[in-house]
Formats: sequence, structure tokens, C-alpha cells
Amino acid sequence: MLVTGGNRGIGYAIAQRFVELGHRVAVTARSGEGPEGTLTVRADVTDQASVDAAFTEVEQQLGPVEVLVANAGVTRDMLLMRMSEEDFTSVVDTNLTGTFRVVKRASKGMLKGRYGRIVLISSVVGLYGSAGQVNYSSSKSALVGFARSVTRELGGRGITANVVAPGFIETDMTAALPEEQQAQYKANIPAGRFATPDEVARVVSWVASDDAAYVSGAVIPVDGGLGMGH
Ligand code: NDP
Repeated sequence: MLVTGGNRGIGYAIAQRFVELGHRVAVTARSGEGPEGTLTVRADVTDQASVDAAFTEVEQQLGPVEVLVANAGVTRDMLLMRMSEEDFTSVVDTNLTGTFRVVKRASKGMLKGRYGRIVLISSVVGLYGSAGQVNYSSSKSALVGFARSVTRELGGRGITANVVAPGFIETDMTAALPEEQQAQYKANIPAGRFATPDEVARVVSWVASDDAAYVSGAVIPVDGGLGMGH
């Protein structure tokens, strides 16, 4: 299996979880390394050639990629009125077009093997919305249409495509938020707390398992109830 952005945060926890379950695990990283027991390859998801090279290296060393977790993502928060076109397109290029690049490359091998599990890491704000995140929330909600279209295209070939939508998770991304804002968010989360990256990883490993063979095109929230009904 391969997870993009597996050198830290949620991607790191996902890689760790799959190692524990006995998978052969590769992570892509622009910097740093994946957890112990993983193969780290360099890749920037904004560059198709770099994505292709990373997949080729993984296939050579570990065999075909049967499970892909498209996790790499960025934020560049700004109120709409102040957001430049570059602020918008750069986030979309990583979060949405980056997903297109890796899924397209992975689907080749999955079609050949007539088996695949594609998991796209979205966010609660994709459907809930968030002031200051027009770029980010657009890129994340688009993953729903993406996974559902992939399901319609490839669902008959043993391939599933699902979206996992985390709420607030304890990572570098949320640590960057001011204390006061963190407390405010927690007050709105029915669970009353942020989640650990491992709590997301466990849902991802389930949706990639044989137990979830008939789950496709689904949006699975891991948000303590924050986005209920969306
Ligand atoms: P982090 O900021 O901790 O990590 C982001 C990861 O994405 C890093 O591994 C980073 O690599 C990688 N990445 C960013 N840009 C690129 C790129 N162009 N090419 C390759 N890799 C890239 O984020 P989280 O772990 O918090 O988030 C992981 C995913 O979960 C993201 O998609 C995020 O949107 C989503 N998410 C996070 C939530 C949270 O509360 N933390 C909530 C909901 C969703 P590098 O270290 O090299 O920059």
C-alpha cells in the first residue's frame, strides 16, 4: 500500500497502522521519513513526473500498489476578499489535482490486478464550510464527486473509492491554530475534543480492508459528530 504525505501527521499514523496490520507500506514524502518498517520515496504531488517515478520505485521494490491513500494536503487560509488566485489554485493543485495525479497512476496497476482500494482524505470543512478556507474547502468537497465518479468508472473491476472526512485532529495543521480558537472549536464538537491521528488511521484501514469490500463512493466522517447530517 502507499500513502502520500506519510512523513508526519495523519499520513504517518496511517502508514504505522498498515505496518501493524502486516501490509508492505510505502510513503511518499517531500522531506523526512515514514515510520519504521516503511519504504519512503520522494514525491511532490503537484508534479506528475515525480508521482510517476515514485510509483515505479514502489512497484519495483514492493510490488503493485493495491491500496492507495491520497492524504497529502495543504492549507493557505485567507478571507475571500484577500485571497489571491494563486492562494486558491495552489491549494487546489495539491489537494485536488494532486489526488487526480496519484489516483490516475495507481488505477493502472489496480485495473491490471482487478483489485484496488482508493481512500481520499478530505475534511469536515469540505461539506461544512469554513470562513477563511474557500480554497481548502472547495478542494476537499471536490473529492466527493471524484470518488463517486471513480466508483462508477472502476467499481465493476474490484476497485472501491471512498472519502474519509476527518474533523479536528491533533497534528501540525491544528497545532498552528491559536489556543483560543482551538477552545472555541472544541466547544462545538459533540465529542468535546480533537481526535488523535490514529483514530483516523483505524477508519482508513477498515475501509481499505476486505470487511469494507461493498463500501464505495461513501463519505465517512471521523469528526466526533461535528459535521452531522452533511
Ligand atoms: P500535516 O500538515 O501534518 O501534513 C501534511 C502532509 O502532506 C505532509 O506529509 C506534507 O509533506 C504533505 N504534502 C503537502 N504538500 C505536498 C505536496 N505538494 N506533495 C507531496 N506531499 C505534500 O497535515 P495533516 O496530517 O494534519 O493532514 C493530512 C491530511 O488530512 C490533509 O489532506 C489534510 O487536509 C487532512 N485533514 C487534516 C485535519 C486536521 O485536523 N489535521 C482535518 C481534516 C483533514 P511535507 O512534510 O514534505 O510538507
